[in-house]
Amino acid sequence: MANNKPFFSEHICKGCSLCVEACPKSLICLGKGLNRLGYHPAGLYNEKECTGCGLCAVMCPDVAITLEQGV
Ligand code: SF4
Ligand code: SF4
Repeated sequence: MANNKPFFSEHICKGCSLCVEACPKSLICLGKGLNRLGYHPAGLYNEKECTGCGLCAVMCPDVAITLEQGV
């Protein structure tokens, strides 16, 4: 288990799925609901398996994912 965990700012996500494809453990999915921009926002749906590698945060073009350290 890593100490770092990604935090998803759903309100600025544009649902591009780049983070979904970037996660080596396939832990990210787009939600069924819509955010205020009209997109299906990404989220981490299996937090226990997350290694905290940060690839999802690096990949996001809208900086909607930040890595929280020491969580
Ligand atoms: S930090 Fe790494 S393992 Fe965790 S959701 Fe992002 S890409 Fe996947
Ligand atoms: S890469 Fe960023 S904007 Fe694209 S779906 Fe993931 S969190 Fe949303």
